[in-house]
Amino acid sequence: MIIIMLGAPGTGKGTVAGILSEKMNIPQVSTGDIFRKHIKENTKLGILAEKYISKGELVPDEITVDLVKSRLEEPDAQKGVILDGFPRTIKQAEELEKILKEKQTKLDMVINLTTPEDEIIERVENRRVCQNCKAVYNVKLSPPQQEGICDKCGHELVKRKDDNAKTVKSRLETYFEQTSQLIDYYNKKGKLRTEEVSERINRFGKNVAEDIIKEISE
Ligand code: AMP
Repeated sequence: MIIIMLGAPGTGKGTVAGILSEKMNIPQVSTGDIFRKHIKENTKLGILAEKYISKGELVPDEITVDLVKSRLEEPDAQKGVILDGFPRTIKQAEELEKILKEKQTKLDMVINLTTPEDEIIERVENRRVCQNCKAVYNVKLSPPQQEGICDKCGHELVKRKDDNAKTVKSRLETYFEQTSQLIDYYNKKGKLRTEEVSERINRFGKNVAEDIIKEISE
């Protein structure tokens, strides 16, 4: 099964992708996580990607597409994947279509998450991620049992460098300029499922994931 997570930063893509990945037993492929790993390891790709990521801009399509293409060749990805943060441009979506065609597989569902902008900024400010297993916490809404420590694996939780108000503003601009066009693109293909994630209506990423899993297993 191939699922795409679409949505502005801070809408809960990683949370939904993580739950779906665990329950469906297929990997979560987060391009952001792959770039962050390269940055941490100071690879050539990491040094290049950081220039864009630190400004809230997108890493160029060719680089990102090649990265995803080779990730999809790995053995664990053959049963399907949850694509978390890819595609982010029409060009990437078109290239993904070609990759899936070559692999004689097809896209099953695009989950588009929406959240009011003021909540997004707050969510991103309060987000902490596990350096090891990538689990996502919100210090206000879903804090870990012990401050700064991941409940799942016991490693340290950190705040992402690009999770600050200034970079979030430019990430949001990038989203509206380049990524939001994908809503229409996938809607026309009949693949889109839009879900609101909002504290105000008491609906969170985990509720969305639970509903989808329930429907799939019915
Ligand atoms: P994320 O962890 O999904 O919020 O991604 C963090 C940052 O990595 C983004 O703000 C982009 O700079 C970069 N990035 C992640 N995925 C992509 C993508 N599909 N295309 C281009 N840049 C990306």
